[in-house]
Amino acid sequence: MILHLDKHTPQELIEKTVVDFDARFFCKEKYIALVTSSAIKNIPHYLAPYTLQDWVFDDDIQLSSSQYKPSRHTITLGKNAIGGDSGNMIIMAGPCAVESYEQMDACCHYLKTEGINVLRAGCFKPRTSPYTFQGLGEKGLEIMVEMRKKYDMAIVTEARDASNVDIVIENADIVQIGTKSMFDYALLAACGDCNKPILLKRNYGATLREYLQSAEFIMSRGNENVILCERGIRSFEHNTRYTLDLCGVAWLKEHTSLPIIVDPSHAMGIAYGIPDLARAATAMGIDGLLIETHPNPEIARSDSRQQLAPEAFSAMIKSIKRVAKAIDRHVV
Ligand code: PEP
Ligand code: MN
Repeated sequence: MILHLDKHTPQELIEKTVVDFDARFFCKEKYIALVTSSAIKNIPHYLAPYTLQDWVFDDDIQLSSSQYKPSRHTITLGKNAIGGDSGNMIIMAGPCAVESYEQMDACCHYLKTEGINVLRAGCFKPRTSPYTFQGLGEKGLEIMVEMRKKYDMAIVTEARDASNVDIVIENADIVQIGTKSMFDYALLAACGDCNKPILLKRNYGATLREYLQSAEFIMSRGNENVILCERGIRSFEHNTRYTLDLCGVAWLKEHTSLPIIVDPSHAMGIAYGIPDLARAATAMGIDGLLIETHPNPEIARSDSRQQLAPEAFSAMIKSIKRVAKAIDRHVV
């Protein structure tokens, strides 16, 4: 159950609800939001006089649900907003990992030429093998901060774990939680305690319900600026890296109010299929795309097979714009 309480609700009553019902609460400008398990269907009697509005749910998908907020949340990412009635579809692009100043500079140069305003690259890389490139860490973040200034772009990078979440929150405009960290509750809590937009990637083995429960962990601490990102789930098929779950995207569009971004790069894992998937996802009326691109994919230190070369990236952007226009979306 979600309650919107009057700002003058006595603190001891809120604290009593937290203890009695394992509730969570956070303060907004005009109300205090209090969230209990969905098993609770009635307003605690002592809160009734202070309740402005209440919502009852079938399950614990509450703050993220379209039942609570029927229209898509508006979230501002740098110069542009997504969601609400913005009609915008944002492109977040960049290499898998920051490798050097020169690589990022070359990349930003062509991204800007294509009108891209959000630079995405990894500094703290969650790699499957310890014998592969783990990212430049803080040095990489410094390079991204320099790129933000030089090219006037918003920057998004992944907080891999509790050892780097604070520095990423401090420096990035948008904080990414990667597929492997979707169940990392310390990370979710830290992201819930800040007010930066959080790009929450779906774990490749998570159901949609588990995915939204992770979003609820962030939102129930007060940060409602969560962006969902479908990036492929593991299926029986191994010719492609993962399977892009566009059925899941349709389900999320219907059942949640959170902006939805699609990442065809990690789903496909091979450059040739990515423009097709990007166009298919665009046609669904999503809020954005995450695309990996590298000035010279052949020498990329991670995910080299899936990063688009500059020419392929440019051709993809042109074709996406045509699809977006056909459904009255504006690529930003
Ligand atoms: C990434 O976005 O660079 C990344 C590692 O993605 P994922 O967490 O989806 O594998
Ligand atoms: Mn990658």
